[in-house]
Amino acid sequence: MVNASKHPNITLLTYSDVIGFSGITGDYKVKIRKNPRYVDESKCTGCGLCTENCPIKVPNEFYNGIGERGAIYIPFPQAVPKYAVMDKSVCIDCKS
Ligand code: SF4
Repeated sequence: MVNASKHPNITLLTYSDVIGFSGITGDYKVKIRKNPRYVDESKCTGCGLCTENCPIKVPNEFYNGIGERGAIYIPFPQAVPKYAVMDKSVCIDCKS
């Protein structure tokens, strides 16, 4: 994943979903929805400080509910790019 992220001919579209596809091999179009991280990717260094200070604790999906994550979290240890994601459905907007 790190090699792919640094390859000059590859554009990573992370935290995104394919929502449509049309055409044939060699001549096709893909429609992609980029999901909001609610984190400024140009400022996030992936240091994890925000994840340590978040008071929310919910089951961690990456570990099948074993362990917890905050309302803001880095999806998994080897995430590329290593940006935090805010789960607005559980965030209490405490600004801590
Ligand atoms: S504002 Fe939301 S994401 Fe940030 S620390 Fe508070 S609960 Fe966590």
